[in-house]
Amino acid sequence: TTGIKPLVAGNWKMNGLKASAGELAALIDGFDAGLAAKADAMVCPPALLVAAFAEKASASPVTVGGQDCHAAEKGAHTGDLAAEMFADAGAAAVIVGHSERRTDHGESDAVVKDKALAVHRAGLVAIVCVGETKDEREAGKTLDVVGTQVAGSLPEGATAANLIVAYEPVWAIGTGLTPTADDVAEVHAFIREKLVAMYGDVGGKVRILYGGSVKPSNASELMAVANVDGALVGGASLKAADFLGILAAY
Ligand code: PEP
Repeated sequence: TTGIKPLVAGNWKMNGLKASAGELAALIDGFDAGLAAKADAMVCPPALLVAAFAEKASASPVTVGGQDCHAAEKGAHTGDLAAEMFADAGAAAVIVGHSERRTDHGESDAVVKDKALAVHRAGLVAIVCVGETKDEREAGKTLDVVGTQVAGSLPEGATAANLIVAYEPVWAIGTGLTPTADDVAEVHAFIREKLVAMYGDVGGKVRILYGGSVKPSNASELMAVANVDGALVGGASLKAADFLGILAAY
């Protein structure tokens, strides 16, 4: 969208060990002033790597995010992590409502919204994911599903600085399949309309990322679509060369 600086965010999912800091270092090295002038870059590694990555990236324009958090600030929630802990570790953002969380952990829109509110409570940027399944798309329900997720998952009181929406068709994640540019344009315009209805002017400035099988070879086409303000990238974000190849689309 005109006037919005795009963001390419890498979701490493459950991939990466301490030694993977080398990929972060390569990304930081390659993310030169020319690229950084055109787009922002963020890496969301497994939670155990967030603190070390944030430290490593602190002198660079690359930011670090988490992949999920609990809605509570602290307490008896064994194994969970609070948004405040991500803030304390140096994260700038937390992804919430990724389809793998919605599917593997049964997270409802209400749960996702509580998590997004927690991210804001901690002073971080919430990257809220939405997207339809293959069956839903084939049944012509894409806009219905995405509309319901947007209405139910997005937090009240958001600003253009602390909310990012990621449209990730579930059937495009990790499959090599992508929607057509026209399909992406349709859904992103629809999300933009909903954002403006919910937040007024702010809604016109919230970034809407596309996610699902983005790679260097298709990034230029997808990133050129109206209302696509960057990408959320899984597989291709694991290798600095691919990540930089996507950033080169700008
Ligand atoms: C994701 O899961 O956020 C994602 C977009 O994955 P991939 O790029 O591997 O399709």
